[in-house]
Amino acid sequence: MSKSLFQAPRGTRDILPEEAGKWRSVLDAFADLAEGYGYGQVISPIFEDVGVFQRLGENTEIVSKEMFIFHDKDLKSPQELALRPELTASICRAYAQHRPVTPWKVWYSGPQFRYEKPQAGRFRQFVQVGAEVIGEEDPATDVEVISLAWRFYESIGLKDVALLLNTLGDPATRTAFNHELKSYLSSRINELSPQSQITMEKNPLRVLDSKRENDLEVLGDAPTIEEFLNQADKEHFDSVRDGLNSLNIPFEITPRLVRGLDYYTRTTFEFISTGLQTAQNAIGGGGRYDGLIEEMGGPPTQGIGFALGVDRILLACEAEKLEIEGTKPLEVFVVDMTGGSHATQIADELRKSGFGVDRSFGGRSMKAQMKVADRSGALYAIIVGDDELEKNEVTLRDLRGDGSQVRVSRSSIEKALNETIEGRNPQ
Ligand code: AMP
Repeated sequence: MSKSLFQAPRGTRDILPEEAGKWRSVLDAFADLAEGYGYGQVISPIFEDVGVFQRLGENTEIVSKEMFIFHDKDLKSPQELALRPELTASICRAYAQHRPVTPWKVWYSGPQFRYEKPQAGRFRQFVQVGAEVIGEEDPATDVEVISLAWRFYESIGLKDVALLLNTLGDPATRTAFNHELKSYLSSRINELSPQSQITMEKNPLRVLDSKRENDLEVLGDAPTIEEFLNQADKEHFDSVRDGLNSLNIPFEITPRLVRGLDYYTRTTFEFISTGLQTAQNAIGGGGRYDGLIEEMGGPPTQGIGFALGVDRILLACEAEKLEIEGTKPLEVFVVDMTGGSHATQIADELRKSGFGVDRSFGGRSMKAQMKVADRSGALYAIIVGDDELEKNEVTLRDLRGDGSQVRVSRSSIEKALNETIEGRNPQ
Protein backbone atom coordinates (compact mmCIF):
# COMPACT_ATOMS: atom_id res chain seq x y z
CA MET A 1 0.00 0.00 0.00
CA SER A 2 1.49 3.37 -0.93
CA LYS A 3 1.85 5.88 1.89
CA SER A 4 -0.91 8.47 1.98
CA LEU A 5 -0.03 12.13 1.59
CA PHE A 6 -0.85 12.99 5.20
CA GLN A 7 -0.44 11.12 8.46
CA ALA A 8 -1.87 11.93 11.89
CA PRO A 9 0.59 14.40 13.50
CA ARG A 10 3.48 13.01 15.53
CA GLY A 11 2.36 11.84 18.95
CA THR A 12 -1.32 11.58 17.93
CA ARG A 13 -3.31 8.69 16.49
CA ASP A 14 -6.68 7.74 15.12
CA ILE A 15 -8.83 5.49 17.26
CA LEU A 16 -10.66 3.40 14.69
CA PRO A 17 -14.12 1.83 15.13
CA GLU A 18 -12.83 -1.59 16.30
CA GLU A 19 -11.12 0.12 19.25
CA ALA A 20 -13.40 3.08 19.77
CA GLY A 21 -16.12 0.89 21.31
CA LYS A 22 -13.72 -0.07 24.10
CA TRP A 23 -12.90 3.58 24.68
CA ARG A 24 -16.54 4.41 24.97
CA SER A 25 -17.21 1.66 27.50
CA VAL A 26 -14.32 2.84 29.67
CA LEU A 27 -15.43 6.48 29.43
CA ASP A 28 -19.06 5.56 30.13
CA ALA A 29 -18.03 3.41 33.10
CA PHE A 30 -16.21 6.39 34.59
CA ALA A 31 -19.07 8.81 33.94
CA ASP A 32 -21.62 6.46 35.55
CA LEU A 33 -19.47 5.80 38.58
CA ALA A 34 -18.57 9.46 39.16
CA GLU A 35 -22.23 10.54 38.84
CA GLY A 36 -23.13 7.82 41.33
CA TYR A 37 -20.65 9.35 43.80
CA GLY A 38 -22.40 12.71 43.49
CA TYR A 39 -20.00 14.37 41.02
CA GLY A 40 -21.38 16.50 38.19
CA GLN A 41 -19.75 16.86 34.79
CA VAL A 42 -17.88 19.99 33.72
CA ILE A 43 -17.19 20.52 30.04
CA SER A 44 -14.64 23.30 29.76
CA PRO A 45 -12.85 24.75 26.72
CA ILE A 46 -10.01 22.80 25.18
CA PHE A 47 -7.90 25.96 25.19
CA GLU A 48 -7.48 28.63 27.84
CA ASP A 49 -5.51 31.80 28.43
CA VAL A 50 -1.95 30.57 28.85
CA GLY A 51 -1.88 32.25 32.27
CA VAL A 52 -4.32 29.65 33.62
CA PHE A 53 -1.70 26.96 33.15
CA GLN A 54 1.22 29.16 34.14
CA ARG A 55 -0.33 29.20 37.62
CA LEU A 56 0.65 25.54 37.85
CA GLY A 57 4.23 26.70 38.35
CA GLU A 58 6.84 27.99 35.93
CA ASN A 59 9.18 25.20 36.96
CA THR A 60 6.71 22.53 36.02
CA GLU A 61 7.75 20.78 32.82
CA ILE A 62 4.31 20.86 31.27
CA VAL A 63 4.35 24.65 31.68
CA SER A 64 7.95 25.38 30.78
CA LYS A 65 8.36 23.00 27.84
CA GLU A 66 5.29 21.11 26.83
CA MET A 67 2.50 23.56 26.05
CA PHE A 68 1.07 24.09 22.60
CA ILE A 69 0.77 27.87 22.55
CA PHE A 70 -0.85 30.05 19.90
CA HIS A 71 -2.08 33.61 19.51
CA ASP A 72 -5.61 34.87 19.27
CA LYS A 73 -6.11 36.57 15.90
CA ASP A 74 -7.87 39.53 17.52
CA LEU A 75 -5.34 42.31 17.05
CA LYS A 76 -7.13 44.61 19.51
CA SER A 77 -6.73 42.28 22.45
CA PRO A 78 -3.89 39.94 21.60
CA GLN A 79 -4.11 36.98 23.90
CA GLU A 80 -1.80 34.03 24.26
CA LEU A 81 -3.77 30.81 24.37
CA ALA A 82 -2.70 27.24 25.10
CA LEU A 83 -4.23 23.87 24.38
CA ARG A 84 -4.91 22.46 27.82
CA PRO A 85 -2.14 20.15 29.08
CA GLU A 86 -4.33 19.06 32.02
CA LEU A 87 -7.74 19.89 33.46
CA THR A 88 -7.30 20.74 37.13
CA ALA A 89 -6.24 24.28 36.24
CA SER A 90 -9.32 24.74 34.03
CA ILE A 91 -11.59 23.47 36.81
CA CYS A 92 -10.02 25.93 39.26
CA ARG A 93 -10.42 28.73 36.72
CA ALA A 94 -14.08 27.74 36.26
CA TYR A 95 -14.59 27.68 40.03
CA ALA A 96 -13.01 31.12 40.47
CA GLN A 97 -15.18 32.43 37.63
CA HIS A 98 -18.57 30.95 38.64
CA ARG A 99 -18.16 30.57 42.42
CA PRO A 100 -20.52 27.60 42.80
CA VAL A 101 -21.61 26.31 46.21
CA THR A 102 -18.99 24.18 47.92
CA PRO A 103 -18.05 21.40 48.18
CA TRP A 104 -18.07 21.50 44.40
CA LYS A 105 -17.74 17.90 43.23
CA VAL A 106 -17.05 17.59 39.53
CA TRP A 107 -15.78 15.13 36.97
CA TYR A 108 -14.49 15.54 33.44
CA SER A 109 -13.14 13.66 30.49
CA GLY A 110 -11.40 14.69 27.31
CA PRO A 111 -8.18 15.14 25.38
CA GLN A 112 -5.10 16.86 26.80
CA PHE A 113 -2.11 18.14 24.83
CA ARG A 114 1.55 18.04 25.80
CA TYR A 115 4.53 18.54 23.56
CA GLU A 116 6.31 15.41 24.78
CA LYS A 117 8.70 13.03 23.09
CA PRO A 118 6.28 10.39 21.84
CA GLN A 119 6.88 6.78 22.84
CA ALA A 120 4.85 3.74 23.88
CA GLY A 121 2.11 5.02 26.19
CA ARG A 122 3.25 8.64 25.86
CA PHE A 123 1.40 10.79 23.37
CA ARG A 124 1.06 14.46 22.48
CA GLN A 125 -2.71 14.13 22.52
CA PHE A 126 -4.07 11.78 25.14
CA VAL A 127 -7.34 11.37 27.01
CA GLN A 128 -7.87 11.79 30.71
CA VAL A 129 -10.85 11.26 32.96
CA GLY A 130 -10.74 12.95 36.32
CA ALA A 131 -12.58 14.26 39.34
CA GLU A 132 -12.06 17.20 41.69
CA VAL A 133 -13.60 18.33 44.96
CA ILE A 134 -13.27 22.07 45.53
CA GLY A 135 -13.72 23.77 48.87
CA GLU A 136 -13.37 20.97 51.38
CA GLU A 137 -10.53 20.34 53.80
CA ASP A 138 -11.88 17.21 55.49
CA PRO A 139 -9.49 14.25 54.91
CA ALA A 140 -12.61 12.17 54.21
CA THR A 141 -12.67 13.98 50.83
CA ASP A 142 -9.18 12.69 50.09
CA VAL A 143 -10.43 9.21 50.91
CA GLU A 144 -13.52 9.59 48.72
CA VAL A 145 -11.55 10.90 45.77
CA ILE A 146 -8.94 8.15 45.98
CA SER A 147 -11.60 5.49 46.44
CA LEU A 148 -13.49 6.74 43.37
CA ALA A 149 -10.41 6.17 41.22
CA TRP A 150 -9.71 2.82 42.86
CA ARG A 151 -13.27 1.54 42.45
CA PHE A 152 -13.18 2.67 38.83
CA TYR A 153 -10.14 0.53 38.07
CA GLU A 154 -11.87 -2.33 39.89
CA SER A 155 -15.10 -1.83 37.93
CA ILE A 156 -13.37 -2.31 34.60
CA GLY A 157 -11.63 -5.40 35.93
CA LEU A 158 -8.04 -4.15 36.36
CA LYS A 159 -6.22 -6.09 39.05
CA ASP A 160 -2.52 -5.25 38.79
CA VAL A 161 -2.86 -1.75 40.18
CA ALA A 162 -0.83 -0.30 43.05
CA LEU A 163 -1.71 2.90 44.90
CA LEU A 164 1.30 4.96 45.97
CA LEU A 165 0.59 7.51 48.68
CA ASN A 166 2.50 10.41 50.16
CA THR A 167 2.01 13.75 51.84
CA LEU A 168 3.89 16.94 51.00
CA GLY A 169 2.61 18.83 54.02
CA ASP A 170 1.26 22.35 53.91
CA PRO A 171 3.04 25.10 51.94
CA ALA A 172 5.22 26.10 54.92
CA THR A 173 6.30 22.48 55.45
CA ARG A 174 7.01 22.15 51.78
CA THR A 175 9.11 25.30 51.67
CA ALA A 176 11.16 24.25 54.71
CA PHE A 177 11.70 20.79 53.25
CA ASN A 178 12.61 22.21 49.85
CA HIS A 179 15.21 24.40 51.48
CA GLU A 180 16.78 21.55 53.43
CA LEU A 181 16.70 19.26 50.41
CA LYS A 182 18.39 21.86 48.26
CA SER A 183 21.24 22.32 50.67
CA TYR A 184 21.69 18.54 50.95
CA LEU A 185 21.67 18.10 47.14
CA SER A 186 24.08 21.04 46.74
CA SER A 187 26.51 19.30 49.05
CA ARG A 188 26.57 16.32 46.68
CA ILE A 189 25.96 18.11 43.41
CA ASN A 190 28.87 16.49 41.59
CA GLU A 191 27.41 13.04 42.14
CA LEU A 192 24.06 13.95 40.58
CA SER A 193 23.14 13.35 36.94
CA PRO A 194 23.54 16.45 34.73
CA GLN A 195 19.72 16.72 34.39
CA SER A 196 19.21 16.65 38.15
CA GLN A 197 21.94 19.26 38.65
CA ILE A 198 19.78 21.62 36.60
CA THR A 199 16.47 20.54 38.16
CA MET A 200 17.92 20.96 41.63
CA GLU A 201 18.48 24.65 41.11
CA LYS A 202 14.91 25.34 40.07
CA ASN A 203 12.90 22.70 41.82
CA PRO A 204 14.76 20.43 44.25
CA LEU A 205 11.62 18.41 45.04
CA ARG A 206 11.50 17.15 41.47
CA VAL A 207 14.91 15.50 41.88
CA LEU A 208 13.20 13.06 44.24
CA ASP A 209 11.30 11.73 41.23
CA SER A 210 14.48 10.82 39.34
CA LYS A 211 14.97 7.18 38.44
CA ARG A 212 18.58 7.68 37.27
CA GLU A 213 21.06 5.40 39.00
CA ASN A 214 23.57 7.95 40.28
CA ASP A 215 20.72 10.12 41.56
CA LEU A 216 19.20 7.20 43.42
CA GLU A 217 22.38 6.71 45.38
CA VAL A 218 22.44 10.34 46.48
CA LEU A 219 18.72 10.27 47.24
CA GLY A 220 19.19 7.27 49.53
CA ASP A 221 20.57 9.60 52.25
CA ALA A 222 18.40 12.62 51.45
CA PRO A 223 16.21 14.16 54.16
CA THR A 224 12.58 13.03 54.00
CA ILE A 225 9.42 15.08 54.27
CA GLU A 226 8.29 13.14 57.34
CA GLU A 227 10.78 14.99 59.51
CA PHE A 228 9.20 18.30 58.50
CA LEU A 229 5.49 17.56 58.86
CA ASN A 230 3.64 19.61 61.46
CA GLN A 231 0.97 18.21 63.77
CA ALA A 232 -1.94 19.18 61.49
CA ASP A 233 -0.22 17.62 58.42
CA LYS A 234 0.35 14.41 60.37
CA GLU A 235 -3.23 14.23 61.61
CA HIS A 236 -4.55 14.81 58.09
CA PHE A 237 -2.36 12.07 56.67
CA ASP A 238 -3.27 9.65 59.49
CA SER A 239 -6.97 10.19 58.76
CA VAL A 240 -6.45 9.54 55.06
CA ARG A 241 -4.61 6.30 55.82
CA ASP A 242 -7.24 5.20 58.35
CA GLY A 243 -10.01 5.94 55.87
CA LEU A 244 -8.38 3.93 53.10
CA ASN A 245 -7.74 1.06 55.51
CA SER A 246 -11.39 1.08 56.55
CA LEU A 247 -12.35 0.63 52.88
CA ASN A 248 -9.76 -2.13 52.40
CA ILE A 249 -8.00 -0.12 49.71
CA PRO A 250 -4.34 -1.13 49.85
CA PHE A 251 -1.63 1.53 49.48
CA GLU A 252 2.12 1.88 49.71
CA ILE A 253 3.56 4.90 51.49
CA THR A 254 6.07 6.35 49.04
CA PRO A 255 7.96 9.27 50.64
CA ARG A 256 9.62 10.27 47.36
CA LEU A 257 6.37 10.63 45.44
CA VAL A 258 6.23 14.35 44.61
CA ARG A 259 4.43 14.23 41.24
CA GLY A 260 5.07 16.48 38.30
CA LEU A 261 3.14 19.60 39.19
CA ASP A 262 4.32 22.27 41.60
CA TYR A 263 0.96 22.98 43.16
CA TYR A 264 0.40 19.94 45.35
CA THR A 265 0.04 20.26 49.13
CA ARG A 266 -0.52 17.46 51.63
CA THR A 267 -1.92 14.26 50.07
CA THR A 268 -0.40 13.13 46.78
CA PHE A 269 -1.00 9.78 45.13
CA GLU A 270 -0.32 7.83 42.00
CA PHE A 271 -1.74 4.64 40.51
CA ILE A 272 0.72 2.30 38.87
CA SER A 273 -0.08 -0.62 36.60
CA THR A 274 2.40 -3.31 37.52
CA GLY A 275 1.73 -4.92 34.14
CA LEU A 276 3.21 -2.00 32.17
CA GLN A 277 6.81 -0.92 31.45
CA THR A 278 8.04 1.21 34.36
CA ALA A 279 8.70 4.34 32.28
CA GLN A 280 5.00 4.64 31.37
CA ASN A 281 3.32 2.65 34.13
CA ALA A 282 1.51 5.57 35.82
CA ILE A 283 -2.16 5.14 34.95
CA GLY A 284 -3.36 8.00 37.11
CA GLY A 285 -2.45 10.40 39.84
CA GLY A 286 -3.55 13.36 41.84
CA GLY A 287 -3.41 15.23 45.07
CA ARG A 288 -4.42 18.23 47.12
CA TYR A 289 -3.85 21.73 45.82
CA ASP A 290 -5.05 24.02 48.56
CA GLY A 291 -3.41 27.16 47.12
CA LEU A 292 -4.22 26.91 43.44
CA ILE A 293 -7.62 28.62 43.33
CA GLU A 294 -6.23 31.66 45.09
CA GLU A 295 -3.56 31.76 42.39
CA MET A 296 -6.39 31.97 39.85
CA GLY A 297 -7.77 35.05 41.55
CA GLY A 298 -10.38 33.16 43.60
CA PRO A 299 -10.78 33.18 47.39
CA PRO A 300 -8.55 30.86 49.46
CA THR A 301 -10.16 27.50 48.69
CA GLN A 302 -8.99 23.94 49.14
CA GLY A 303 -9.09 21.37 46.38
CA ILE A 304 -8.25 17.75 45.73
CA GLY A 305 -8.55 15.62 42.63
CA PHE A 306 -7.06 13.16 40.21
CA ALA A 307 -6.63 12.53 36.50
CA LEU A 308 -6.40 9.07 35.00
CA GLY A 309 -4.83 8.35 31.61
CA VAL A 310 -7.32 6.46 29.45
CA ASP A 311 -4.76 5.56 26.75
CA ARG A 312 -2.64 3.86 29.40
CA ILE A 313 -5.61 2.27 31.15
CA LEU A 314 -6.43 0.52 27.88
CA LEU A 315 -2.80 -0.56 27.54
CA ALA A 316 -2.96 -1.92 31.09
CA CYS A 317 -6.16 -3.83 30.19
CA GLU A 318 -4.34 -5.33 27.22
CA ALA A 319 -1.40 -6.29 29.43
CA GLU A 320 -3.84 -8.06 31.78
CA LYS A 321 -5.57 -9.67 28.79
CA LEU A 322 -8.86 -8.12 29.90
CA GLU A 323 -11.72 -8.23 27.44
CA ILE A 324 -13.33 -4.80 27.47
CA GLU A 325 -16.73 -4.95 25.90
CA GLY A 326 -16.70 -2.97 22.67
CA THR A 327 -19.56 -1.95 20.43
CA LYS A 328 -22.82 -3.83 20.65
CA PRO A 329 -23.15 -6.21 17.67
CA LEU A 330 -25.79 -5.39 15.07
CA GLU A 331 -28.93 -7.46 15.16
CA VAL A 332 -29.88 -7.33 11.53
CA PHE A 333 -28.36 -6.94 8.07
CA VAL A 334 -30.81 -6.37 5.23
CA VAL A 335 -29.98 -8.02 1.91
CA ASP A 336 -32.18 -6.64 -0.85
CA MET A 337 -32.05 -8.35 -4.25
CA THR A 338 -34.83 -6.21 -5.66
CA GLY A 339 -33.03 -2.90 -6.11
CA GLY A 340 -32.57 -1.53 -2.60
CA SER A 341 -35.72 0.44 -1.81
CA HIS A 342 -37.03 -2.35 0.45
CA ALA A 343 -33.75 -2.37 2.36
CA THR A 344 -34.19 1.39 2.89
CA GLN A 345 -37.70 0.89 4.29
CA ILE A 346 -37.11 -2.22 6.38
CA ALA A 347 -33.91 -0.78 7.87
CA ASP A 348 -35.74 2.41 8.82
CA GLU A 349 -38.69 0.55 10.41
CA LEU A 350 -36.43 -1.69 12.47
CA ARG A 351 -34.06 1.12 13.46
CA LYS A 352 -37.02 3.18 14.68
CA SER A 353 -37.98 0.22 16.87
CA GLY A 354 -34.50 0.18 18.39
CA PHE A 355 -32.80 -2.65 16.46
CA GLY A 356 -29.20 -2.28 15.32
CA VAL A 357 -29.46 -2.57 11.53
CA ASP A 358 -27.17 -2.24 8.54
CA ARG A 359 -27.70 -2.88 4.84
CA SER A 360 -25.67 -2.91 1.67
CA PHE A 361 -25.70 -0.41 -1.15
CA GLY A 362 -25.16 -0.47 -4.88
CA GLY A 363 -27.42 -3.41 -5.89
CA ARG A 364 -24.68 -6.01 -5.51
CA SER A 365 -25.03 -9.74 -6.08
CA MET A 366 -26.51 -12.01 -3.41
CA LYS A 367 -23.07 -13.48 -2.75
CA ALA A 368 -21.45 -10.06 -2.35
CA GLN A 369 -24.23 -8.82 -0.05
CA MET A 370 -24.08 -11.95 2.10
CA LYS A 371 -20.35 -11.46 2.47
CA VAL A 372 -20.87 -7.94 3.79
CA ALA A 373 -23.67 -9.23 6.04
CA ASP A 374 -21.29 -11.78 7.52
CA ARG A 375 -18.53 -9.24 8.06
CA SER A 376 -20.96 -6.85 9.76
CA GLY A 377 -21.23 -9.18 12.76
CA ALA A 378 -25.06 -9.02 12.59
CA LEU A 379 -26.99 -11.88 14.17
CA TYR A 380 -29.58 -12.18 11.36
CA ALA A 381 -29.92 -11.41 7.69
CA ILE A 382 -33.26 -10.31 6.35
CA ILE A 383 -33.36 -11.24 2.68
CA VAL A 384 -35.73 -9.70 0.16
CA GLY A 385 -35.73 -11.48 -3.23
CA ASP A 386 -38.24 -11.54 -6.08
CA ASP A 387 -40.09 -14.51 -4.64
CA GLU A 388 -40.33 -12.92 -1.17
CA LEU A 389 -41.52 -9.69 -2.72
CA GLU A 390 -44.28 -11.44 -4.62
CA LYS A 391 -45.60 -13.07 -1.45
CA ASN A 392 -45.07 -9.99 0.69
CA GLU A 393 -42.59 -11.93 2.86
CA VAL A 394 -38.91 -11.86 3.80
CA THR A 395 -36.42 -14.61 4.65
CA LEU A 396 -34.92 -14.43 8.10
CA ARG A 397 -31.56 -16.19 8.20
CA ASP A 398 -29.54 -16.94 11.32
CA LEU A 399 -25.98 -15.76 10.59
CA ARG A 400 -24.31 -16.72 13.84
CA GLY A 401 -25.93 -20.02 14.78
CA ASP A 402 -26.76 -22.92 12.50
CA GLY A 403 -27.55 -20.85 9.41
CA SER A 404 -31.22 -21.91 9.54
CA GLN A 405 -33.82 -19.74 7.84
CA VAL A 406 -37.55 -19.10 7.94
CA ARG A 407 -39.98 -17.13 5.82
CA VAL A 408 -42.00 -14.52 7.69
CA SER A 409 -44.60 -12.09 6.49
CA ARG A 410 -43.46 -8.52 5.91
CA SER A 411 -45.71 -7.25 8.71
CA SER A 412 -44.38 -9.64 11.35
CA ILE A 413 -40.60 -9.15 10.93
CA GLU A 414 -40.30 -7.41 14.26
CA LYS A 415 -42.27 -10.05 16.14
CA ALA A 416 -40.23 -12.87 14.55
CA LEU A 417 -36.97 -11.10 15.39
CA ASN A 418 -38.00 -10.52 19.00
CA GLU A 419 -38.96 -14.17 19.41
CA THR A 420 -35.78 -15.59 17.92
CA ILE A 421 -33.54 -13.11 19.80
CA GLU A 422 -35.32 -14.04 23.02
CA GLY A 423 -34.78 -17.74 22.22
CA ARG A 424 -31.08 -16.98 21.74
CA ASN A 425 -30.69 -15.24 25.12
CA PRO A 426 -33.13 -16.99 27.48
CA GLN A 427 -33.51 -14.93 30.68
P1 AMP B 1 -0.57 14.01 35.19
O1 AMP B 1 -1.57 15.03 34.77
O2 AMP B 1 0.80 14.22 34.61
O3 AMP B 1 -0.61 13.72 36.64
O4 AMP B 1 -1.06 12.67 34.49
C1 AMP B 1 -2.13 11.90 34.94
C2 AMP B 1 -2.19 10.64 34.08
O5 AMP B 1 -2.36 10.99 32.71
C3 AMP B 1 -0.89 9.84 34.10
O6 AMP B 1 -0.87 8.98 35.20
C4 AMP B 1 -0.98 9.10 32.79
O7 AMP B 1 -1.80 7.96 32.94
C5 AMP B 1 -1.67 10.07 31.87
N1 AMP B 1 -0.70 10.79 31.02
C6 AMP B 1 0.05 11.87 31.33
N2 AMP B 1 0.80 12.26 30.29
C7 AMP B 1 0.52 11.41 29.28
C8 AMP B 1 0.96 11.28 27.92
N3 AMP B 1 1.83 12.12 27.38
N4 AMP B 1 0.45 10.25 27.16
C9 AMP B 1 -0.45 9.39 27.69
N5 AMP B 1 -0.90 9.48 28.95
C10 AMP B 1 -0.44 10.46 29.74
